[in-house]
Amino acid sequence: MTTDTAAQAAYVVAALLFILSLAGLSQHRTSRSGVVWGIAGMVVALAATVGLASRSISATGLVLIVVATAVGAGIGLWRAKVVEMTGMPELIAIMHSLVGLAATFVGWNGYLDVDAELSGSLLGIHHAEVFIGVFIGAVTFTGSVVAYLKLSARIASRPLTLPGKHVLNIGALVAFVGLTIAFVARPNMGLLIAVTVVALALGAHLVASIGGGDMPVVVSMLNSYSGWAAAASGFLLANNLLIVTGALVGSSGAYLSYIMCKAMNRSFISVIAGGFGTPAAAADEGEQGEHREISAEETAELLGNATSVIITPGYGMAVAQAQYPVAELARKLRERGVEVRFGIHQVAGRLPGHMNVLLAEANVPYDIVLEMDEINDDFAATSVVLVIGANDTVNPAATDNPSSPIAGMPVLHVWEAANVVVFKRSMAAGYAGVQNPLFFRENTQMLFGDAKQRVEDILRGLDALDTPVREMAGTSR
Ligand code: NDP
Repeated sequence: MTTDTAAQAAYVVAALLFILSLAGLSQHRTSRSGVVWGIAGMVVALAATVGLASRSISATGLVLIVVATAVGAGIGLWRAKVVEMTGMPELIAIMHSLVGLAATFVGWNGYLDVDAELSGSLLGIHHAEVFIGVFIGAVTFTGSVVAYLKLSARIASRPLTLPGKHVLNIGALVAFVGLTIAFVARPNMGLLIAVTVVALALGAHLVASIGGGDMPVVVSMLNSYSGWAAAASGFLLANNLLIVTGALVGSSGAYLSYIMCKAMNRSFISVIAGGFGTPAAAADEGEQGEHREISAEETAELLGNATSVIITPGYGMAVAQAQYPVAELARKLRERGVEVRFGIHQVAGRLPGHMNVLLAEANVPYDIVLEMDEINDDFAATSVVLVIGANDTVNPAATDNPSSPIAGMPVLHVWEAANVVVFKRSMAAGYAGVQNPLFFRENTQMLFGDAKQRVEDILRGLDALDTPVREMAGTSR
């Protein structure tokens, strides 16, 4: 068997392993094995690629490949080991930017190093591939860098609203089509530089125009773009595995974005087009009124007298690592006969399923952890809601204010409860940068401070309460 045949066979095996990996990752139960399939696929793919390359490069070239792989793998291992769970989306975003950058370089290389055997229409197709690869790669690169900056709070998450922003986006797409036609007819470096600049600007503008509340969709959308960028590189490098893997990542990322848009009541087209058709962010949210404060001891008393409690955790619970005292609080209240449940919003935190993972880590029983749709009708009959580090996901502006940047996003209707206690450190806005009218409602009280410390204070307050412990059995709201 020649090296080429062996490498192609290995590529088929790697592609199958990637498909198994995606299938495994689609369910909690099988996600670990999904990761293992993915690692195995990548090892096979790398070994086959190095084997293929070894036929045509010098020993020095081979050493360089091994060194580059070792350095890349070392950086990847280090970053994945030290990253906090709250930092995962930004890590994913910066990794997508590297895929985009690689695709841009592959495209440029395809222009600078044209196969001498290509001529006629095949050469035209090659140049179209160069242009498309550079365009998708550069859009993915700057889009992912801006997403990284937003997700890591290095820049504001508010949407950028340049005058005529949709005309700018459409203009960039029209320019891309025109430049591609010109490049295929008469390839030259000036046109390639022009398309690179247009694509870099478009990627940055598309993601900068999307509001913080829509960032979960942006992350999966960039995942999809990075897949298409890899597939474009596969065509240029005549590498079947890159084409197959890129198409898998591209289509699964696009489908995930579509599912997330549906869950968040967003238009898919609107999000991928940089917020097309969504209202501009309200510049001035006006005077909201006074907020009321509550102490941890008073909250303990409120909880001691409650019959039913719903806890809605959010990003702040993850930052404070408050899941363990929160689980303890739920346990103690249940011992007192209080009905305790958790209401989970699908985009609470910074990862799909983020809150479920934290609560499972703290051994909160699954049967009291409910999805938003399962619990939203129950708030009206609830004595106390504890909003622990959540903000955008409990913002009534999403339902009440059609001009809000998060208008239409389904949220937890916590304000319908008799009492709402909001745990946070200040009156600052949530991730979407939108003020939350919940904080100023009659039935809401703010419990300021780090969520973990405040929950621990409440636990002490509950211990100090002399409320008689009710019978657990048979107690319901
Ligand atoms: P938000 O991000 O809207 O708000 C979190 C709140 O936690 C802040 O208001 C902050 O207020 C508070 N907080 C931060 N640290 C602490 C702490 N140590 N103790 C107490 N409070 C703290 O949270 P949500 O979970 O409600 O919403 C998630 C947002 O993130 C949504 O906009 C979503 O679209 C977006 N997003 C979600 C992703 C996902 O996949 N789930 C991915 C990317 C973005 P203060 O600073 O005053 O303490």
